Amino acid sequence: MNASPQRGADVVSLDERLRYLRVLRAVIAAATVLDAALLPGGLRVPFAVIGGFALAYLVVCLLAELAWRLMRRRGLWLFGSLLMLDGLFLSWAWYLTGGSTGPLRYLVLVHLGAVTLLASYRTGIKLALWDSLLQLCVFYAGRAGVVGDPVPDSTAEWYRTIAFIIALWTLTLTIASLAAVNERELRRRRYELEQLAQMGRALEDAEDPLGVGDVLMDTLNDTFGFERMALFEVVDGVSPRLLTFRNLIDAVVTNFDVGEDSVLATAHTERRTLLVSDLDAEADSWLAALMPNAANIAIVPLVADAVVAVLVAETNERRGSRIERRVIATTERFAGHAALAMRNAYLLERMQQMAVTDGLTELANRRSFDRSLDRELTRAVRTDGRLSVVLLDIDHFKSLNDTYGHVVGDNVLRQIAQALRDCGREYDTVARYGGEEFAAVLPGCSSALALQVAERLREAVEGAPTDVPVTASCGVATYPYDGIDANGLLSAADQALYAGKRAGRNTVRSAEQARAGATPVMGLG
Ligand code: GH3
Ligand code: MG
Ligand code: MG
Repeated sequence: MNASPQRGADVVSLDERLRYLRVLRAVIAAATVLDAALLPGGLRVPFAVIGGFALAYLVVCLLAELAWRLMRRRGLWLFGSLLMLDGLFLSWAWYLTGGSTGPLRYLVLVHLGAVTLLASYRTGIKLALWDSLLQLCVFYAGRAGVVGDPVPDSTAEWYRTIAFIIALWTLTLTIASLAAVNERELRRRRYELEQLAQMGRALEDAEDPLGVGDVLMDTLNDTFGFERMALFEVVDGVSPRLLTFRNLIDAVVTNFDVGEDSVLATAHTERRTLLVSDLDAEADSWLAALMPNAANIAIVPLVADAVVAVLVAETNERRGSRIERRVIATTERFAGHAALAMRNAYLLERMQQMAVTDGLTELANRRSFDRSLDRELTRAVRTDGRLSVVLLDIDHFKSLNDTYGHVVGDNVLRQIAQALRDCGREYDTVARYGGEEFAAVLPGCSSALALQVAERLREAVEGAPTDVPVTASCGVATYPYDGIDANGLLSAADQALYAGKRAGRNTVRSAEQARAGATPVMGLG
């Protein structure tokens, strides 16, 4: 018999439990027959009747199981009825084999204990109620002499019955509570495994290290109810920086001075979890300020080859009590999974960064310049805004290379890039356009303003502390006057740049000026 899907999630399948119950019933029937054979004196009916009775019981049980198989889950009531039938059989067999003086009464306890363990503690308690009722029935049956002679001393028999009922309840409640402890532990473990699986799925969707950190914290909050947490990222092995947090009072602070004695530094360098009952106000002053009165704190490093982050979590154990080992082991397991995901997220971020950055100057590369020009152009078209581009070309760079060599030339390019970076506005994209040419996208800049920006860029190159002094020429083009798409704007800026070169270099020209210079203005001269 296969487990039904609903029951399949149980630790021990229902089929397996049923198999154990079948064996138990066979043992009960066999023990009844054996006891009857060993103690023929106490029997109220002939031995053959008891044998036939036991056989009939087994047959009924087998038939009921067969029906159960056919009905599948709909036959759950049959399972309960069979347990009641067991009780009925046992009490009746016990009565027939001599009542309180017979040994069969103890089979009732065995049956009750087994059912409480195999089914559930609730089923055990219901069965104990049923068995108590049957015990009373047997007592009254004995006193009335339903089969055989009435019991002679019914007062003693009454006390024996009551004592037995007390024993029966003691046994059931003891087993039920102990089984509940075990069951709770099993369920807790299963829940933690499910949380781990769920976290794995959530990590697949996390796009960056911050997303990974949030998944880890949500999982820990769901699983253990940790409320105050902070996650510090460790980038390129430098000291930890606050990445994300939960319920910290002053999380505006993002850069901390992590001293050598700090728990963060220790967990980081020793790569092991630290458990502290409270934070040292001196060594971890800022952490203590972030988590005032924190008690029982776990500091867990997230290790994936190297330490990628450090988690600080206040466990919700009461002050003075120990943090459960199980909680820490599971937290470490969660942190291990998050560490791998975080390392991958960092690698991906780095790759994406490399794809848009120029290797020599670390400015945006041509591809990212093109993308940002397209994006800003679309925005300008939509909002009827202005947009300018500046092309900047170093003057006589070839001769600089020829004179001082390419290494110096490269260095000068790097120094110029730094100067351009320093003078660009935050929202302007300054990029290395190619060779010794740089370009800038200036969103929202009219032609006049763009000429000023270009002039500033030119001055920045001229004044840059380069190994060899250099100058640059700039060409400026503005949407929509000089071009309505990226190609149009760039070629207009290029024309302007060459107008600047022709005009003697170290100068700025707009596309409009270039056009005016190329075609003689009518009416003049
Ligand atoms: P001008 O622009 O003023 O007309 O003169 P130029 O000498 O700068 O002329 P051009 O733009 O034709 O020459 C560009 C030179 O830049 C050619 C090449 O040697 C140099 N160059 C291009 N890329 C690099 C680079 O990555 N490193 C170094 N060191 N030189 C480069
Ligand atoms: Mg050039
Ligand atoms: Mg040049």
